[in-house]
Amino acid sequence: MRKRNRQDLNRFSKVALFSLLVLLSIVVVVIVTAVFFRNPKMYKDFEHFSLGTYVHLKIATKSNPDLIAKEIFAEMDRITNKYDPYKKDSILYKLNHSDGWFEVDDETFALIELALRYAKNTEGAFDPTLGRLIDLWGFSNFSEKLSNNTDFQIPSDIEIKNALINSGYEKVELDYNRKAIKTNGVWIDLGGLAKGYALERAYQIAKAADQECNGFVEAGGDIRILGPKFGKDFWIIGIRNPRGSDSIDYIYLKSGSVATSGDYERYFVKDGVRYHHIIDPKTGYPSNGAISATVISNDAISADAFSTAAFVLGVKNWLFIRTVFPKNNSEVFLVSPDQEIYKTHGFTNYEKIY
Ligand code: AMP
Ligand code: MG
Repeated sequence: MRKRNRQDLNRFSKVALFSLLVLLSIVVVVIVTAVFFRNPKMYKDFEHFSLGTYVHLKIATKSNPDLIAKEIFAEMDRITNKYDPYKKDSILYKLNHSDGWFEVDDETFALIELALRYAKNTEGAFDPTLGRLIDLWGFSNFSEKLSNNTDFQIPSDIEIKNALINSGYEKVELDYNRKAIKTNGVWIDLGGLAKGYALERAYQIAKAADQECNGFVEAGGDIRILGPKFGKDFWIIGIRNPRGSDSIDYIYLKSGSVATSGDYERYFVKDGVRYHHIIDPKTGYPSNGAISATVISNDAISADAFSTAAFVLGVKNWLFIRTVFPKNNSEVFLVSPDQEIYKTHGFTNYEKIY
């Protein structure tokens, strides 16, 4: 009888131990899974040539990162082709070469309407109607010209004057009912915000696939944050020295976007003078009030448009930048031609971890 009891007890403790082990394993699996999915740490990197530059995507997601990357890069290619105003099959080429009212799709109407709003908010420093000037200066197919070793020519004063007459955002008329646009002779060029638009679309695509995803998308130095590093930390971003390959400052971001416009991105040198791709709408010549402008905004379109505008406004309009840009949720870091640095008050908040 006693022997039987001992056997029962033995069997009982074996079952108890086994159950405990099973329970422990389940707890461990549950914890590991919960931690992994709440805070994905596995980043995947993707690269693709689009928008005339290299685009990088760094993403951690519980969804399928390869599919997200594929969708994002296809969208960027679509935007590149649709909004290249110097390619005959693009919507902008057709619009720019139309007479009178021209009906466009919803996306194009919204984008042009937005670009004209940035023009108004920056007193015309950002001007999406400089297509004729950009073409005249040779920046419409810059990469091709570079690879063909084409000799860049400085346009004559008369040519610039004529292109200026057919530029200016105030000339564009919008018909909100018919979604129609009348350019009145100007050529629309959205190069100043196209990258931002594509980055914002990338953000929307990633978030639609997985609201919790994090990482960032970067195109030619402009960055759209998808979410904090490891779900909680800052991404540390260097601001490029416009006259070197090092960084002249660092900013810390968990969300939002940062964009830089510089005279070192697309330029040619003639008789010792640098001629670059950002045109001052007042003169028709490459603007000379700054050598680089970096803007932090909530979204990538604002960061892109305002960085181009800050670059054009330059140091002589610093008071305007300092008062108007932060009201549009945009903080500025400007480098003057003699390499002095100007920052809006709010910009300094991004220079340190707080
Ligand atoms: P970003 O590199 O964003 O400053 O954009 C520069 C591009 O915007 C140029 O390559 C042109 O396509 C276009 N662009 C040039 N000057 C201006 C301007 N004043 N306002 C808006 N877009 C411009
Ligand atoms: Mg820009």
